Amino acid sequence: IGMVAGTRSGGVCGKNWAQGDLYDFAKPLRGFAITNYLVRRKACYACPIGCKRVVKVDSGPYQVDEGPGPEFQTCANFGLMLMNNNLEGVMKANELCNRYGLDTISCGSTIAFATECFENGLISKKDTDGIELKWGDIDAAIEMIHRIAKREGFGDVLAEGTRAAARKIGGSASEYAIEVKGMELPMHDPRGFHGQGLAQAISSRGGCHLDSLHWLIEENFSHYPELGFAEHYEAQTSEGKAQMTIMSEDLAMLCNSGVICFYVMGCISSDDLLDMLRVTTGFDYTREEALKCSERILCLKRGLSNLMGMKAEDDRLPKRLMTSLESGPTAGSVPGMDLMLREYYELRGIDSNGRPKKQKLIDLNLTDLDAKLFP
Ligand code: SF4
Repeated sequence: IGMVAGTRSGGVCGKNWAQGDLYDFAKPLRGFAITNYLVRRKACYACPIGCKRVVKVDSGPYQVDEGPGPEFQTCANFGLMLMNNNLEGVMKANELCNRYGLDTISCGSTIAFATECFENGLISKKDTDGIELKWGDIDAAIEMIHRIAKREGFGDVLAEGTRAAARKIGGSASEYAIEVKGMELPMHDPRGFHGQGLAQAISSRGGCHLDSLHWLIEENFSHYPELGFAEHYEAQTSEGKAQMTIMSEDLAMLCNSGVICFYVMGCISSDDLLDMLRVTTGFDYTREEALKCSERILCLKRGLSNLMGMKAEDDRLPKRLMTSLESGPTAGSVPGMDLMLREYYELRGIDSNGRPKKQKLIDLNLTDLDAKLFP
């Protein structure tokens, strides 16, 4: 749900992040189309939203047993990323990834990366066990899912994602690896929403849409005026997005720590969330105390990542996402990463090496981390 709308708003593109203007192409993948395969809706315990769709495909080449249907990111990554708009094919890919335990964002993105390598002659059928990887060919993608999961043949090259595969393939392959810190990006195009570029670049674990609530906030789905967010955010501007991202991260850390679904967070206020945390933990957190916990968590995550080798130069977007598309709603737009990173580092208290500053660690009582980062 929302993916086709995203092709209009600028949050969704295709062909390994190289093509915009896909509204008509994406229509067969719209949320409404899944009703043709719907067995029932499903929800986590007591959730009134019930976002899950149980589906089944009875006949044809992409038969799917009754089970979880594809959501937004799966439709984007096994659909538009591969220039495939066959929904039954997407549902089959989704079923296989679920059964193999593969993330559909990373898996779909990695196959899109391989398809572009194939298109540009960096690999051929000799490398891919005779499989011709071409745009729109969901059968080739499905075959590759099996090989990735079993680490068979060319699947072994792709099994650790785009960064590792690009190193093995060599040449210009890294240009087609759309990742941050080795993790493939979720479909929230930073050219359409600049703050999403910052959030994905600075996330400690790499391109991630779950370290921050930026997509709910920057796309104006949710407002938390009690936390100081603006009532409305302009999509394709970078001004003010560092502050927005910091507040989005802090709120997300409370959700993640409390195991609160972001969709649910989109329907409640931060005061509701605090009430839930108070009654379940027994601690009478004030808003300021709770947000301080968030800052401490983020600082700890960053510092631990620094100890494992993360540096300031890892807080970046791949070149392709810093290159504007020629058509579609984001044409001509690129995020102002220099501005946003500079402001973010300053506001968060991060030094030029990408580490939390010593004083910040002391203020947050992270003295063990301080001793390790600044021996
Ligand atoms: S809690 Fe979240 S994931 Fe679970 S049904 Fe509700 S909206 Fe969906």
